[in-house]
Amino acid sequence: MEVSVVIPVYNEEANLPELFERLCKSMDSIGKSWEVIFVNDGSRDKSGEILREFAKKRDNVKVIDFNGNFGQHTAIIAGFERVSGQTIVTLDADLQNPPEEIKKLLDKVDEGYDAVGGYRKQREDSAMRRYPSKVVNYLRDKMTTIRMKDQGCMLRAYHRKIVDAIIQTNERSMFIPALAYTFASNPAEVEVEHAARNAGESKYNLYKLVRLNFDLITGFTLVPLQVFTLTGFLASIASFCLVAILLFRRFFMGSEAEGVFTLFAILFFLVSLTMIGIGLIGEYVGRIYQVVQARPKYIIKETIGFDGK
Ligand code: UDP
Ligand code: MG
Repeated sequence: MEVSVVIPVYNEEANLPELFERLCKSMDSIGKSWEVIFVNDGSRDKSGEILREFAKKRDNVKVIDFNGNFGQHTAIIAGFERVSGQTIVTLDADLQNPPEEIKKLLDKVDEGYDAVGGYRKQREDSAMRRYPSKVVNYLRDKMTTIRMKDQGCMLRAYHRKIVDAIIQTNERSMFIPALAYTFASNPAEVEVEHAARNAGESKYNLYKLVRLNFDLITGFTLVPLQVFTLTGFLASIASFCLVAILLFRRFFMGSEAEGVFTLFAILFFLVSLTMIGIGLIGEYVGRIYQVVQARPKYIIKETIGFDGK
């Protein structure tokens, strides 16, 4: 098997028929042997049944049916654990990543690159999605050693050895493109088209997006903790100076109550700084907690189309 395509699916019934048709057409025209693994991430619509039909139509179609909703990246991991291709492609099920663009990625892999990321030429999402995304791309660039133009683009291709390394990682809540980048010896990027969501709505709300980006930052760098320690250090120097001044005034000018609100303001600032610090440590401790618990990352209800299963 030369190419495996892994597609996470969560409530995408309206997109699947067109996706399947365009994917088959595009992959058949490349002329390499290929398979597709759909991972049904606990869809509550008809996605499961539709995928089952696809698997009946062609024997290079495989389906992993999850017991519940475990998240896009976990779904991709489950697919990765069962691929048989030498090159693995990921893409979204909502047709935002045109299947016709897969060839571009595969050509780049043939040139010898082991992790090929797509970056979206013209991103077709709302401003509400694009601007926060610019901010997190910027933060990731400053805080981690991961260099990519467009971390949010899931149209990507990996050499088998990268995928093998990813599935050996015993982490929870991982961010696959970034993880792949850290394992790659020769990463590359190509420009890809992007479309507006074909049907249905985005599965990410603001909260989920914030969580995903916390995972990205805390999973790949300790810089936030270091920045925090430094801030705490500077704040304590400033506080020390303030205490010195106030003591001086207390002894040489007598007790005074003016400026009490200024002091409150300073106190509130310092307390909030402390709270951020506790939260930050909590993020890292939470990651450790999840790994220590060692619960299964996902639970499979059924697999379809895999040999002997
Ligand atoms: N997805 C998933 N599980 C989830 C959320 C999303 O498998 O819990 C899939 C979804 O079906 C789609 C892909 O991940 O194929 C990307 O999701 P979406 O298009 O909603 O994200 P966006 O494009 O808005 O970032
Ligand atoms: Mg989408």
